[in-house]
Amino acid sequence: MPSLITDSAEHGAIRETVAKIASKYGSQYFLGRGRNGEDIGELWSDLGAAGLLGLHLPEEYGGGGGGMTEAVVVVEELAAHGMPMLIWVISPAICGSILAHHASDALKSEWLPGIADGTRKMAFGLTEPNAGSNSHQLRTTARRDGDGWVISGSKYYISAVDQADAILLATRDAELSTPEKGKLSLFVVPTDTPGLTFQQIDTSIVSPDKQFTVFLDDLCVGPDALIGEVGQGLRQRFDGLNPERILVGAICSGVGRYAIAKAADYARERQVWSVPIGAHQGIAHPLAAAHIDVEVGRLATYRSAELFDTGEPAGEAANIAKYAASEASLKALDQAIQTHGGNGLSHEYGLSDLWFITRLMRTAPVSREMVLNFVAQTSLGLPRSY
Ligand SMILES: Cc1cc2nc3c(=O)[nH]c(=O)nc-3n(C[C@H](O)[C@H](O)[C@H](O)COP(=O)(O)OP(=O)(O)OC[C@H]3O[C@@H](n4cnc5c(N)ncnc54)[C@H](O)[C@@H]3O)c2cc1C
Repeated sequence: MPSLITDSAEHGAIRETVAKIASKYGSQYFLGRGRNGEDIGELWSDLGAAGLLGLHLPEEYGGGGGGMTEAVVVVEELAAHGMPMLIWVISPAICGSILAHHASDALKSEWLPGIADGTRKMAFGLTEPNAGSNSHQLRTTARRDGDGWVISGSKYYISAVDQADAILLATRDAELSTPEKGKLSLFVVPTDTPGLTFQQIDTSIVSPDKQFTVFLDDLCVGPDALIGEVGQGLRQRFDGLNPERILVGAICSGVGRYAIAKAADYARERQVWSVPIGAHQGIAHPLAAAHIDVEVGRLATYRSAELFDTGEPAGEAANIAKYAASEASLKALDQAIQTHGGNGLSHEYGLSDLWFITRLMRTAPVSREMVLNFVAQTSLGLPRSY
C-alpha cells in the first residue's frame, strides 16, 4: 500500500528481511500460539539469527550498531504482519538500551550479545501494585549487605518473566531514600536467584508474552549486579523511556497498517448488494480516515526515532508518536473489524484477537493520560496537578 514513509535502501533491505521471516510464520501462527499460551521460540531464534533483535545495540556487544530507526523498521514490520511483539520492546529495546547506556563493561559483555542474538531475554521490573504511573512511590527496597544488597518487595504486571533469563529490577535504595523522595537503583537479577518467584496474572490479551506478579523475598545480589551508580536509577530509567514510547509507536503503526490492509482487501472483494462493500461510503470513509491517522502516527514515530538517533531532544516527539499511533491503531482495528461484519470476530480473519494487545498500548508502558500530562506541561507550559 502506498505510504508517506519512504525507506532508505538500507531500511528497505531490513524491512524485506523482516517481512520474509514474518511471512514464513504468519499471523495465524503468532495469534494461535498466543491463544494457546505457547511461545514463539522458533520465530524469535530466526529473528536473532538474522540480526534483527539487536540492530540498535552497540557492535562491540553483538549488536548492529544502528539506532532506534532500525528498531522501528523491525518492530513495525513484524506488527504489520500481525505480530505485535511485547518482548521485543521489553528485552532488546528497554533493557538493552538501559544496559548499553549505563551498565558496566562486565554486565554489557555478559548480557548484550545474548539479547542481540535472541539466546537470552531480560524482563523489565518497574511497576508495583502501589506504584504504577508514579515511580517515586516504589516500595521494593535494596538494603546494603556487605558489598552487595538484599532486595525485598514485589513487582506487578511484569511481562514475560517466565521466558526471561534475568529481570532488570528498579528498587528503592534504603540508605539514600527519604520518606518523601525515593532514590532508585537498577539491578540485573537472574530469574533463578533464590527468593525470586512469580505468579501469572490472567488477562484478556492474546499474546505469547504473559503477565506476572513477581515476589522478591530477601534476594541477595552482589556488587556486579548494579547498573551504573547507586541511587541514579531514575535518571538511568529515563534513557529507556523514549525508546519504549517510540517502539510502541512502531507496534501500533504496524497493527494499523495490518488492519487497514486487511480491511481494504476485504472491502474490495466482499459483495452483498450489487457493488463491493468498499463502494459504500459508510465503509470507505471511515477506512480512509483511519488510514490517514495511521500514516500521521507513522510519520511521528519515524520523526521521533530520527531525533533520538541524532541525539536531539526526542521526549516531546516520542510522546506525540506514542499517543498518535496508539489512538490510530485502535481506530483502524475497530474499523477493520466492522468492515469484516461477523467475520471480524472470528479467529480466521486475525483481527479481533489483536484487540486487547492494541488496547493495552493506551495504558502501558505509559498511559495516555501521562502522555497528555507530559505534553500539557512540556509543550504548553501548563502547571502540574500531581
Ligand atoms: C499487559 C501489561 C504489561 C505490562 N508490562 C510491564 C512490564 O513488563 N514491566 C513493568 O514494569 N510494567 C509493566 N506494565 C505496567 C504498566 O506500565 C502500568 O500498568 C502503567 O504504567 C499504568 O500504571 P497502573 O496500571 O498502576 O495505573 P495507575 O498508575 O494506577 O493509573 C490508573 C489510571 O489513572 C490515570 N492516572 C494516574 N496518574 C494520573 C495523573 N497524574 N494524571 C492523570 N491521570 C492519571 C492513569 O492514566 C490510568 O488511566 C504492564 C501493564 C500491562 C497491563
